[in-house]
Amino acid sequence: MNRSTRRRVTSQIREIMKKNGDNCSICDKAFPHNSKTFGGVTANGTSALVGECCAGKLSETLISGVFVNRNYEELLKIKGNSPNPEVSPEKLSDVITPLQDYFSGVDKLGADIMKSAGVQSKNASVNFSDSSWKRDDADWFKDNPERSHRLRPFFKEEAADLPVAFLKNKPPPNHEFQVLIRQVNFKGSEPFNFTGPTSPCLPNLFT
Ligand SMILES: [Zn+2]
Repeated sequence: MNRSTRRRVTSQIREIMKKNGDNCSICDKAFPHNSKTFGGVTANGTSALVGECCAGKLSETLISGVFVNRNYEELLKIKGNSPNPEVSPEKLSDVITPLQDYFSGVDKLGADIMKSAGVQSKNASVNFSDSSWKRDDADWFKDNPERSHRLRPFFKEEAADLPVAFLKNKPPPNHEFQVLIRQVNFKGSEPFNFTGPTSPCLPNLFT
């Protein structure tokens, strides 16, 4: 494949990623979480983004990656970690496998925290970023070590870490979003979001 064809195919694959990046271009199967993906051309020259299901149907592979359906914001902050490193085909698994291991490790941490909290969830996302609301919760639990829960108003900045679907819900008049934090142990806590009245102020009733 010459350079200009390669450029054209790469840009077509990026377009596919934007428009239908969750499904295999050939069999339309939804990509499983934390699975390998491949971008390239089929034998008849069609650009395609495929999963392991149809990797063998590509006559040439130009791009390889990992499909995830959760947010791993810390990954992009790792120093020297380019989201688009160029590597030779033989070295691909040296890049892809550690990525999948990283995602599995974070998923397991999230699942363990949820389990400690007695909550069943298959896709707990873990947020490692420092934030004013996390520091506030940590300070509060430090001052109230005997409390297992904290109910407090929603921090404005917290919205960025909540699912978009959740934020589409508007609280009824005279209500606001509040957050119930459960202290799992001294290493972590898990927020639960729900709506509570703005007045009167709710005390922290749960122990
Ligand atoms: Zn497929």
